Amino acid sequence: MTQKASTSSCLVIGGGISGLIAATVLRDRNMQVTVVDKGRAIGGRMATRRIRNSQYGEGIFDYGAQYFTAQDPKFQALVNSWIQEGIVKEWSLNQQISRKVYYRGVNSNRSIAQHLAENLDVHTNIKAISFAWQDDHWQVLTANNETFLADVLILTPPLPQTLELLDRSQIQLPPETRHRLEEIVYHPCIALLALLAQPSQIPSPGGMHLDGTLLSWIACNQKKGISPQGNAVTLHATSEFSKIHWDIDNTVIANQLLEAASPWLGSSVIDYQVHRWRYSQPQTVYGEPYLVVTKPGPIVICGDAFIQPDVEGAVLSGLAAAEYLLG
Ligand SMILES: Cc1cc2nc3c(=O)[nH]c(=O)nc-3n(C[C@H](O)[C@H](O)[C@H](O)COP(=O)(O)OP(=O)(O)OC[C@H]3O[C@@H](n4cnc5c(N)ncnc54)[C@H](O)[C@@H]3O)c2cc1C
Repeated sequence: MTQKASTSSCLVIGGGISGLIAATVLRDRNMQVTVVDKGRAIGGRMATRRIRNSQYGEGIFDYGAQYFTAQDPKFQALVNSWIQEGIVKEWSLNQQISRKVYYRGVNSNRSIAQHLAENLDVHTNIKAISFAWQDDHWQVLTANNETFLADVLILTPPLPQTLELLDRSQIQLPPETRHRLEEIVYHPCIALLALLAQPSQIPSPGGMHLDGTLLSWIACNQKKGISPQGNAVTLHATSEFSKIHWDIDNTVIANQLLEAASPWLGSSVIDYQVHRWRYSQPQTVYGEPYLVVTKPGPIVICGDAFIQPDVEGAVLSGLAAAEYLLG
């Protein structure tokens, strides 16, 4: 077993938007922070992927969160600062039917996470598997047999994965708290990323909620402004379709989703990828911004399952968790 040299005051497990926000706030207040994420890239469900084709160019796809809103003044202030820095811009979605302002990353939604990760100590491809409280600090064991040391942990994975981590670490929650966390279930979502030969028929500004039985969302990433060279379309299947087709072959899923989307495609599909989000968005929330565990050592649990099941909720929960630790 190798021991990582750095001893951090705080180890954040999960480099999604909630973990990164918490980490930046703590860093700005001079706390030593390390973030680990099991993914190849940071951002979690703020996810962006590329499909390259020698003839048809490179498609860039936001395939997790598509946009976000900012209803809370704290989050609005943060979004305003991102706009000034050129990281975020408005997306004129649903202007006819909603007064809400929709935002997106200028380059992609993952690029917001990448911006937050600048000047943070972030380790990707690191899966925390358990932790133990020893000699007044946490020892976090990872899947590749490294150990990270920290005085306090922030856990941000979707709740079923957080509960699994707590179980493997033999950390018990009060039964009622455990029950409340277990009751929060997530919508699954199958996403299909299609690179088209020609521009799609999806109208500007490039994103549409759908109320069909198969598709809940379709987006043209080119009209959205993040895929300048490739005709990149993102489809999100409904929660019902995703549940029923979870274990079905990708080809069968793709045929059905592309058929349902055909009125908006208007072009042949050059290449596609299917991604299964087991935990896309929580159906209900815990109702408090974070959860604190004190025994055997300090842990703060946060994320989008606490106050609001979306990007804004994840940010507000991450902010509140950091403020609790600083307070
Ligand atoms: C298909 C889809 C569409 C969505 N659409 C929207 C939308 O349009 N608007 C909106 O506001 N929200 C949307 N959301 C929800 C939004 O993306 C999430 O609410 C938000 O990104 C959650 O952030 P988070 O930090 O709480 O969790 P996550 O982003 O899930 O971050 C948790 C991180 O923990 C990591 N992790 C898990 N276990 C471990 C471990 N053991 N060790 C190390 N790392 C670990 C994961 O890799 C992940 O990066 C959508 C989500 C999906 C999937």
